[in-house]
Amino acid sequence: MNAVKDCYLRWRLRLQQAEISAAGFELDLLLEAFVGISKAQRLSYPEQLLGQDEMARIEAALSRREAGEPLQYLLGWWEFYGRRFAVGPGVLIPRADTEILVEQALAELANTPSPKVADLCAGSGCVGITVACERPDAQIVLLELSPQAAAYCNKNSKALAPRCRFLQADVLRTTAGLTGLDAVLSNPPYIPSEGISGLQREVRQEPAMALDGSADGLRFYRGIPLLWRKALKPGGLLGFEIGFDQGQAVRDLLADAGFSDIRVVKDYSGNDRVVLGRNHMGR
Ligand code: GLN
Repeated sequence: MNAVKDCYLRWRLRLQQAEISAAGFELDLLLEAFVGISKAQRLSYPEQLLGQDEMARIEAALSRREAGEPLQYLLGWWEFYGRRFAVGPGVLIPRADTEILVEQALAELANTPSPKVADLCAGSGCVGITVACERPDAQIVLLELSPQAAAYCNKNSKALAPRCRFLQADVLRTTAGLTGLDAVLSNPPYIPSEGISGLQREVRQEPAMALDGSADGLRFYRGIPLLWRKALKPGGLLGFEIGFDQGQAVRDLLADAGFSDIRVVKDYSGNDRVVLGRNHMGR
């Protein structure tokens, strides 16, 4: 009964019964992380026996997953833009939607040599670190307030792009003396406070500080453009990830703060997901 093929079926059923929709996919990732058996090995050697220790390790992980712990926290990593970022309790898990912010920023910066870029509310650092990896000539500063998130951010930059500079800062209060930036990028907290309790149970295990954007969700979109405009070069880029229904509101806030060439970009589900603007005074 301890052959990996039998265990797989039993454990997949367990996850399905806990209403985890991608049960087989998740189980393969857990098998690899906790007992070192890849999907290819499982399929090639279905009769391979699991030892008592291995059974105990994976069953403990399954119990945590059934109780609603995010898969990514159990694995300790998640992929973003083709690279693995360390994650765990206290840091927002990188989302595929956020890759759109990175793609847009890279396209906008394509003709800017050695761009200076700040990633505000950096969390795991996935936005700024990815820009650093994709643009070896870029100078990147990562700003994050939470000490728990900062630990992951530093770990990730050390592993992927050690030249990134890290600053622990509240980006609504200070620009940390930064000036002459070519781009300010941010995926700030943007869920309206009332919406937090209605989020999926896995998302509720992520830090509220990374999700809660105040009563209307717009706190950071109100504060960042006004404060950070002075840190941008003339013509510099501001790029935000936004919630699906915040496109018009954030467009207006950027215009009020003196930005122009404002664009709203949709994600692959067809929802507004990114807002970009340029710091053109008096245009
Ligand atoms: N995209 C995240 C979610 O909906 C929210 C991230 C954020 O607030 N920046 O779970």
